[in-house]
Amino acid sequence: MTQPTDRMRGFLEVAYRETIPVAGLSNECVRDWVNSCIAGITAQFQRYTLLRALELASEAAEADTLRRVQREQVPWVLHNFGERESWQPLLGAQEELGELAHAHLKGHQGIRSGEDHEANAKDAVADVIIFLCDYSSSRGWDIAELLGSTWDEVKKRDWKKDPDTAHEAMLVDAAKGGCADYVHDPDAEWGN
Ligand SMILES: [Mg+2]
Repeated sequence: MTQPTDRMRGFLEVAYRETIPVAGLSNECVRDWVNSCIAGITAQFQRYTLLRALELASEAAEADTLRRVQREQVPWVLHNFGERESWQPLLGAQEELGELAHAHLKGHQGIRSGEDHEANAKDAVADVIIFLCDYSSSRGWDIAELLGSTWDEVKKRDWKKDPDTAHEAMLVDAAKGGCADYVHDPDAEWGN
């Protein structure tokens, strides 16, 4: 599992040491605060490492992966299931989304410890996409093209700037001040 770096741990240790002397704060209060900091920083660090990994992959490589799956899947589906209507992979995607919800919920509740909730969640995420590739093929759609073109519109939405109308940004020419593309900069996030 991804963990915060030594730099972040050092920051927390200093914060803990220097906060204890503050009048009126019990050790329990400080410990709760530190634990909430660790949870928040761990979540941010995991997002940071994921974005770093995604940035290392070129857009072409990402599209190639989706297109390879979709291209290889078409004859595979025909071989295994023959001709079938698009509602079948649609229900398959929905079923896998249910499996993802199951794995996430049980993992959150800390029950059914005999099941590998994280592995099951990862498998379900992939299966949802695989079924959506199948569904797209059944409709004659290029899923990589759909993903790229839709994301190009969604990323124009700035919900901080326009909390009520950001979804209308796709109708506005960005050059006219509609909405600038949000560009994530992990280095800036960590002050590097
Ligand atoms: Mg499954």
